[in-house]
Amino acid sequence: MIKIDGSEGEGGGQVLRYAAALSLITGEPFTIANIRGGREKPGMMRQHVTSIEAAAAIGGAEVSGLAVGSSEITFHPGSVTPGEYHFAVGTAGATGLVLQTILVPLMLADSASRVVIEGGTHAMAAPPFEFIAKTLLPITAKMGPKVTAKLKRHGFFPRGGGRIVIEFDPAPLRPIECVERGVLKSRKAEALVAGIASDIASRELSAMQKVLSDWPEDAFSARQLPADEGPGNALLIETEFENVTEIMSGFGKVGLPAEKLGKTAAKRAAGYLSSGAFAGPYLQDQLLLPFALARSGVFSTVKISQHTHTAIALIERFTGTSFRIGPGNGKSHMVEVLR
Ligand code: ATP
Repeated sequence: MIKIDGSEGEGGGQVLRYAAALSLITGEPFTIANIRGGREKPGMMRQHVTSIEAAAAIGGAEVSGLAVGSSEITFHPGSVTPGEYHFAVGTAGATGLVLQTILVPLMLADSASRVVIEGGTHAMAAPPFEFIAKTLLPITAKMGPKVTAKLKRHGFFPRGGGRIVIEFDPAPLRPIECVERGVLKSRKAEALVAGIASDIASRELSAMQKVLSDWPEDAFSARQLPADEGPGNALLIETEFENVTEIMSGFGKVGLPAEKLGKTAAKRAAGYLSSGAFAGPYLQDQLLLPFALARSGVFSTVKISQHTHTAIALIERFTGTSFRIGPGNGKSHMVEVLR
């Protein structure tokens, strides 16, 4: 039984999700205390409960202590059963984070799965749908498992109501090298707006344009979504390279000026572009699990995040696989799997 202190390191929901995924893969039970102990409002929120329920459903796990507000659970994994599943967060809690919990176990299962997840698709502090479909899954596909994601309906904070469908064609994970991003093929900055004032998108686009001043004018556009999918607003800055498509994002919320949102997202994209690295700040921690299970591989990335340090420590405890972090070229860093 692995004992985890959920307040260590990043101290957020990611520890819980990665622990459940690792437990299903290794068969090792765990208990976690102080869940989200590093957050202002600790304990499990609805989206964390749904993530663990999803892990328990696909992995025949027995879980005690599972409830909104709970700060301690015990998780005994069974065996992963691929198939058809449907999970609903019930709030705008991120569909992408429920997926984060079950992604690797189902991509390594012995047959196909189809999973419908309902909740937020473009929610704060979580991977937006496009990041999953265009950034993360094409990389894991290069490692073997083919997973496709389709967006059926957008879901924004606070209403939620989004829906994604994920189809898994499993395969073992093989090691890859993700060091060079290759030549730039396309770039675009998009403002998604659903059921909100139309000047918001144009203010966001001009704020992004000020930072990404060498981008052509036609790289900036607004996408109007059906009003009944909102109210909602998200920014997606997509840079497609030969070997990776990175997406930096921003999520509108009441009280956050459009100019500030646009500027912050664009600065994040500019930082990624100038680093020369393959993986941006969020792809970084999301590559660790598949790379560890491939038992070899290396990727270059931007400054190492606290999420990454925390996930590395957790992965080492469950699998014995460790990582080496070292300098890369220029502003980049290298993350390498050690057997
Ligand atoms: P909390 O932080 O409130 O506990 P949480 O469960 O959302 O909530 P975190 O521990 O912060 O958890 O984990 C967030 C995960 O979402 C990380 O894997 C991070 O890489 C990913 N993520 C966050 N923002 C983005 C983004 N803009 N694009 C892609 N991935 C993101």
